[in-house]
Amino acid sequence: MGVEQKLKASIEPGLDIAATVDFIIKHTKGPLAGQIMPYDHKFTNNFWSPEMALVNTQVSKYIWVLQQNNIDTNSGALNQIRYRKMDRVKNEVFRRTPITPSDTRLKNLVEEFAKTAREIASIKSGPNVADYQPRKVLNANCEYCSFLTMCNAQLDGESTEIIEKVKFVTNDPYLSTYKELEVDVTTG
Ligand code: SF4
Repeated sequence: MGVEQKLKASIEPGLDIAATVDFIIKHTKGPLAGQIMPYDHKFTNNFWSPEMALVNTQVSKYIWVLQQNNIDTNSGALNQIRYRKMDRVKNEVFRRTPITPSDTRLKNLVEEFAKTAREIASIKSGPNVADYQPRKVLNANCEYCSFLTMCNAQLDGESTEIIEKVKFVTNDPYLSTYKELEVDVTTG
């Protein structure tokens, strides 16, 4: 249906999201027959984990922009092509990861895009620094980030309470072990 397709959708008056979708396909046979899906291609050293693929915003953004353009889709896919030199090449060069974001995730992502856009506009228009820190999804950072599971849950609108209890402890690097040092100033 389209290759390098440029699309635009409005978040609010004066604020648009633009996307150039690698390709948009309507499956005509197989288990996905009838489904319209945007695809994104990535060259990568190593394959991303499914969690990493999900937290990346690109395919989700494509889906939302397509929906706003009255195209009936709720899932897409990430095609990964590895470029590293490998001894065993068979089955290790290409991977396709389907991505089906929930409606909540799409809503949260679009709100974060909007907050980022407003923050940029605010910084550009004066000294007023916004107090909100939207997540900045960068491939390398997310893959090794300790908060990846929590980040995905939060984007889906789920409670992160259990993850916090199981995976994290309160950071106390200093206070419980802190003792005033007594320095004898007479001897140095
Ligand atoms: S908190 Fe971690 S997983 Fe979430 S967007 Fe930032 S780097 Fe990625």
